[in-house]
Amino acid sequence: MAVPKRKTSPSRRNMRRSHHALTAESFQECPNCGELKRPHNLCGQCGHYNGREILSVGN
Ligand SMILES: [Zn+2]
Repeated sequence: MAVPKRKTSPSRRNMRRSHHALTAESFQECPNCGELKRPHNLCGQCGHYNGREILSVGN
């Protein structure tokens, strides 16, 4: 089995992890009801997407 010759130094390890940061989730206002929703996703509040009702939300 292939095995690394040297232990990864803390500097190398941290350089590798420099791309691991999480980014905050993005939200947009629903054009139908104004509730915040994720982009490219059905609105959880009114069930609309792309200007029409996809899912009827009973309330
Ligand atoms: Zn909505």
